[in-house]
Amino acid sequence: MAKGTFVTVINCMDGRTQLPVNEWMRKNFEVDYVDTITEPGPNGILCSGSGTQISSIKDRVLKSMECHGSRLVALVGHHDCGGNPGPKDMQIEQVEKGLDVIRSWGLPVKLLGLWVGEKWTVEAIDGPESQ
Ligand SMILES: [Zn+2]
Repeated sequence: MAKGTFVTVINCMDGRTQLPVNEWMRKNFEVDYVDTITEPGPNGILCSGSGTQISSIKDRVLKSMECHGSRLVALVGHHDCGGNPGPKDMQIEQVEKGLDVIRSWGLPVKLLGLWVGEKWTVEAIDGPESQ
């Protein structure tokens, strides 16, 4: 029996972002499951975190690809982020820069940037695009 189809999301640990992003990804990409890597403000970490923090995220992306065949990785920024405080334009800029970091890993995945706004609805801000 097939285990289902998967995509990968690098999301904030903020519980308010989890369900909306999971549902949005499953609906928009018609997949069964969303592997979720969480950090406090992952867009900020990818832009200015330590090498250890960034390679920990990369390891989990690779695990999702290897174990579940994911070929799409989304990076999330959101309203009222405690781990990475800042206005929407800063958050979105950091999502785009974070996607550049992921792109530099040279993985065979499509990349997508997401914004979760103050009503906890999800919008695509960049992608999905192939490498
Ligand atoms: Zn957050």
